[in-house]
Amino acid sequence: MTPSVSEPLKAQLQAPEPEHCPGPESEQAGKGDACDGCPNQNICSTQLPKGPDPDMHLINQRLSQIDHKILVLSGKGGVGKSTFTSMLSWALAADEDLEVGAMDLDICGPSLPRMLGAEGESVHQSNSGLSPVYVADNLGLMSISFMLPDPDSAVIWRGAKKNGLIKQFLKDVNWGEHLDYLVVDTPPGTSDEHLSVTSYMKETGIDGALIVTTPQEVALLDVRKEIDFCRKANIKILGLVENMSGFVCPNCHGESRIFKPTTGGGAQLCEDLGIPFLGSVPLDPRIGKACDSGKSFFDNYSDSPAATAILDVVDALRDQIEISVEKLTI
Ligand code: SF4
Repeated sequence: MTPSVSEPLKAQLQAPEPEHCPGPESEQAGKGDACDGCPNQNICSTQLPKGPDPDMHLINQRLSQIDHKILVLSGKGGVGKSTFTSMLSWALAADEDLEVGAMDLDICGPSLPRMLGAEGESVHQSNSGLSPVYVADNLGLMSISFMLPDPDSAVIWRGAKKNGLIKQFLKDVNWGEHLDYLVVDTPPGTSDEHLSVTSYMKETGIDGALIVTTPQEVALLDVRKEIDFCRKANIKILGLVENMSGFVCPNCHGESRIFKPTTGGGAQLCEDLGIPFLGSVPLDPRIGKACDSGKSFFDNYSDSPAATAILDVVDALRDQIEISVEKLTI
């Protein structure tokens, strides 16, 4: 009989387990005789360590000081996930009573340092761990790019090495005594990074996932897979935001649709799948400019339609988090 496999790992396997499979979560995973030539061998041999992980205690200790943990996901690249993560981080940190952290787990394409104005910075290590780079008094950032010798270096890592880095971030980054929100930017799709971060954060709990998409069906197709991943991995979906869902001319303030929602867009998808629709954010070229220069878009354009839309999404997201917390405490 083939040993049972947890749903998140099952979702990653490329093919059904063959006869004589030692079990993708066993000590022998990826190493047994049956593994030679099995399409799953790479996944099985690089997945998370088997048995109790001694580092979990340290990870749990670090994460227990964080009230809310949000994963930002997108099915497809190029939908503005990192841009939205930076906007979300700035928007949360605009409340001076909140302590906010942003963690860039997009290992192959880290862009948060640029968007949050921390490009070229490096992290410091002390007895208490790795210190994030602070881009505002109450907004810290940790990214792989702070650890690379050359910002233009390509990161070509297999799953095990990515997994090690994610573990190090969760275990060693010292976010201070208390963090209200940790916003985690993940790569597009469902990959090693998603499996690792959800497994490591499972014990202290993730508030949920925020999914970013654009209105076209080609983006929504991949969003459905992302939603399926969240369901299989037991990650609550806090909601979906539709990015680039119109263009507001900065001069005349007229709005036009650039990416047409041929199948009803994000709102229809949320209705079909029963997940919260948090709102739509129009394209505004000044957002890209603010991100390129590492400045908060809200500093200069707080009354623009895009800023209003983003802040409405952030409010709706915080409402969803509060609802989840209330349900847990009832
Ligand atoms: S690589 Fe080995 S452990 Fe993984 S599914 Fe194939 S046979 Fe099973």
